[in-house]
Amino acid sequence: MMLDEARARAEELRRQIEYHDYRYYVLDDPEIEDAEYDELVRALTKLESTYPELVTPDSPTQRVGGRPREDLPAVRHRAPMLSLANAFTESDLRDFDRRVRAALPGEPVEYLVELKFDGVAVSLTYQDGRFVRGATRGDGETGEDVTPNLRTLRSMPLRLRCPAPATLEVRGEVYMAKQAFASLNERREEAGQPLFANPRNAAAGSLRQLDPRVTAERHLDMWVYGVGYADRLSFGRHSEALAWLREAGLKVNPHLRTCTSLKEILEYLEEWRDRRFELPYVIDGLVIKVDRLDQQERLGATLKSPRWAVAFKYPAEQAETTVEDIIIRVGRTGVLTPTAIFKPVRLAGTTVIRASLHNEDLIREKNIRIGDRVVIHKAGDIIPEVLRSRPELRCGREREFTMPENCPECGSRVVRAAGEAGVYCHNVACPARLRENLLHFVSRGAMDIRGLGPAVIQQLLDRGLVADPADLYTLTRDDLLGLERIGPKSAENLLAAIQASRQNSLARLITALGIRHVGERAAQLLAERFGSLDRLMAASREELEAVPEIGPKIADSVLNFFSRDQNRRVVKKLAAAGVNTVARASAVRTAGPLAGKSFVLTGTLEEFTRQEAGKIIKNLGGHVVSSVSRKTDYVVVGRDPGQKYDKAINLGVKILRESEFKKLLAECQAGPG
Ligand code: NAD
Repeated sequence: MMLDEARARAEELRRQIEYHDYRYYVLDDPEIEDAEYDELVRALTKLESTYPELVTPDSPTQRVGGRPREDLPAVRHRAPMLSLANAFTESDLRDFDRRVRAALPGEPVEYLVELKFDGVAVSLTYQDGRFVRGATRGDGETGEDVTPNLRTLRSMPLRLRCPAPATLEVRGEVYMAKQAFASLNERREEAGQPLFANPRNAAAGSLRQLDPRVTAERHLDMWVYGVGYADRLSFGRHSEALAWLREAGLKVNPHLRTCTSLKEILEYLEEWRDRRFELPYVIDGLVIKVDRLDQQERLGATLKSPRWAVAFKYPAEQAETTVEDIIIRVGRTGVLTPTAIFKPVRLAGTTVIRASLHNEDLIREKNIRIGDRVVIHKAGDIIPEVLRSRPELRCGREREFTMPENCPECGSRVVRAAGEAGVYCHNVACPARLRENLLHFVSRGAMDIRGLGPAVIQQLLDRGLVADPADLYTLTRDDLLGLERIGPKSAENLLAAIQASRQNSLARLITALGIRHVGERAAQLLAERFGSLDRLMAASREELEAVPEIGPKIADSVLNFFSRDQNRRVVKKLAAAGVNTVARASAVRTAGPLAGKSFVLTGTLEEFTRQEAGKIIKNLGGHVVSSVSRKTDYVVVGRDPGQKYDKAINLGVKILRESEFKKLLAECQAGPG
């Protein structure tokens, strides 16, 4: 290759990598698989090593990935947060081991091998043992302040359990467990929202939120894997630092191994190759670190990654199989989902027999026919997905799939909503919708009635014991004992769970009704604003749209839901069965001097953290929302405000400087007169 040609190729690769970095790190919405991305980076690295004159300081091979979000406050890390060099093969590891030993001639080397968690890197700062700040990695020098969001994690100790240095910065990974990811995507699909590609993107998207309440709903967790900075706390080894962190109450993963040779490392890698699929969270490899800290120091780091560590990545798990059929599943909203039935195939620890194909457009886009060979993978090691079909292997007997014109469960004509990819069965009495509705009603985020799984629900429907969710509250012990595989003990437990659910919050009940586009968060907002199911049912379009964060789509859906006699009947039956339909007094936000007022906060305030300011606003009856719209009443502007400030000016929303904000609060707190 000529130099000019190489330069053009390098430019092209950089352009592509930058585009995918943006989608991945900024939007949390990648377009390509990690393996494809890694291939681009490898090609660029290779080109740059052949033509070193092509290396520029801003090349993606020279710097750490993400750019911080501008609307979150920036945090400078005390010590840079670097990435890790990658190893994909045994020979890459051999090179790493050789480089380490060459730099430490004659010294024994011990490696600590850890799991490589696939989440978002965070830095946690403790001041005198108290958690004061949490930040994302960002570009390695500057990250995003996500303190209030991190505080919502249950595994996040706000105070350390043993005497700690004055300032301590620890490093870890925030992740979303496989099951939480699967449920989140399921709910998003039902609500017609875009899906997260994998738990890493879901964790990043959930952590980098302006509103911590969204983070709180997403069930994030964390592992801590190192010290970034500590005053006067010295360890001889990385493994000692981890032991201390665990002692201090931070979550340190128990799977660690000390290895003294490449052979031992390779054995440990083999051990985890399949075992990783049994973990409830995703790991994409193992991290191999030189254990002695004095050796780490001598090895140093490049601009992008330490020389004392390497990440071994397992190849993406894929399998090839045949699509034996495409069947239709009818969801609770009546959406018809084409589902591929495969010739059973082992993949990432389980036998896979089916995968959702989402909708007809996607089937066309991926060119999938019944009988095709297809390549599949599991998003987040848990949700099977067709990556692509292999039309070149067709024999001519494959059949194109067409969406049925009638619902396969009830026979009524299906409708394709304008501008949407989904096709719907609008028959509210469709048995499939009924089943899915009941399953949704009892699910964890809704009424949370444990023990009512698909098998029990199906039996209750088949025997005519329930025809809608309200009927669950009339079930008797005898009804339950008549079902297969329900003994006296489980009947008692079920009745107790149903009984207990009568006391659930209004927000849970609204979620459980299964109104389209109304998930846990919207349900919470509606419960807070209207205070009772009766008032919500009577709400006008204007009243609904006046609720911050409730747009026309949700308002429409709520109106549509309550306009149906069938739904109003169910609501009445639920109330008659003694199910709580009102919000607890403290949850209602219709009182207080700031009642109905919405606030957006931007920039750093001198006297409050955002969380504190939010709390005060809430206590006075107001709401804090994440983005500025014409409906916003006030935008409170601190130091270094983000784009929300410009937007507020453009939309003519009232702007409050910190002093004006304080004045407003003082007036409210002084009360009327
Ligand atoms: P990385 O995720 O490969 O490795 C570095 C990170 O590993 C660290 O920042 C840390 O957060 C994490 N980590 C997990 N467990 C650890 C442990 N025990 N000890 C230390 N660190 C641990 O590197 P990266 O720079 O964050 O991201 C690059 C990755 O992102 C690549 O795998 C790439 O495929 C992917 N990516 C994909 C796209 C795409 O479009 N698909 C775009 C950009 C990046």
